[in-house]
Amino acid sequence: MERQTGRQTIAVKLSTADLMMIYRQLLGRYEAQHWWPGETPFEVMVGAVLTQNTAWSNVEKAIDNLKGLDALNLESLLTMPPDSLAAQIRPAGYFNVKTKRLLNLCRFLQQNPGLEVLDTDELRARLLSIHGIGPETADDILLYAFDRPVFVIDAYTRRLFGRLGLIVHDCGYESLRADFEAALRSDSTLFSEYHALIVVHAKAHCRTKPVCVSCPLSEQCRYRMDQLANGISAV
Ligand code: SF4
Repeated sequence: MERQTGRQTIAVKLSTADLMMIYRQLLGRYEAQHWWPGETPFEVMVGAVLTQNTAWSNVEKAIDNLKGLDALNLESLLTMPPDSLAAQIRPAGYFNVKTKRLLNLCRFLQQNPGLEVLDTDELRARLLSIHGIGPETADDILLYAFDRPVFVIDAYTRRLFGRLGLIVHDCGYESLRADFEAALRSDSTLFSEYHALIVVHAKAHCRTKPVCVSCPLSEQCRYRMDQLANGISAV
């Protein structure tokens, strides 16, 4: 990975030591999150689609609607009229698009039994072949539904590690994912907990407008150092 500094381009490397130190600091502050909030792999997959571009609280309402109809299963979603499905998932936003994506996923699962025996690269390629399933959604599914050691890159990850000075914002998804996976022990439990802690931290402190006071990562944060160097200390 590279970072632009004026006209100069310098390499930015995610080191094992840095990543594990950050992980331990986040774990010490927030404790283990035991994600994903879903009772079955299918529920995780549905949640991964519904959470695209919306807050999890909205996803929960949509999932509760489906559970209330006892419809949070493959057969029910495939037989439910699409308009009815759209009405149930309306709280998650973009409900017409997400209805199509959910049905694409359901048809794929129906037509491809035995996915769990595939190796991770093959399974990932198959998931990415589904219309409406992009890298982040595929990796959510791989990690939290199939227990595969895949590091999820989302906007929170980019924001946090960008502010820490460890990555640049415009590096590509696959490049960034590969860098995290190369620096960390290949362990789905570690990856799932790390991603959860990043999300929790991004909501608690590293928000769009960051709350740096009492942030557990402030002492090694480049953004914070720049703020202090510029005489800004109250945030
Ligand atoms: S110090 Fe501020 S910018 Fe840095 S990680 Fe913490 S909240 Fe984010």
